[in-house]
Amino acid sequence: MLDARTTRRLTYEVIALAEKRDPVDAINDIELALVELRERRNTMLLKASTARWLKVECTTCEYVARVTKKWLESTGAPLCPCNSQAMTIC
Ligand SMILES: [Zn+2]
Repeated sequence: MLDARTTRRLTYEVIALAEKRDPVDAINDIELALVELRERRNTMLLKASTARWLKVECTTCEYVARVTKKWLESTGAPLCPCNSQAMTIC
């Protein structure tokens, strides 16, 4: 989530752009601001989701994967496609 201050600032910027600029330019700028917001949101979501995953790696070919602690503990590390051996927790 964006903090309230950033959300407020971006909202003010969008309103200012819409009021002061040529409509086409304002729309282009608003769309760019939306792209930036989506990128920030996606980055935050990715960070939140990857934080729960543990990295495992094949010591033979260095294949990297991520797996949850729950599955590591209940079923074990995934097997690498190169040799069908359990991958190592990094
Ligand atoms: Zn491998």
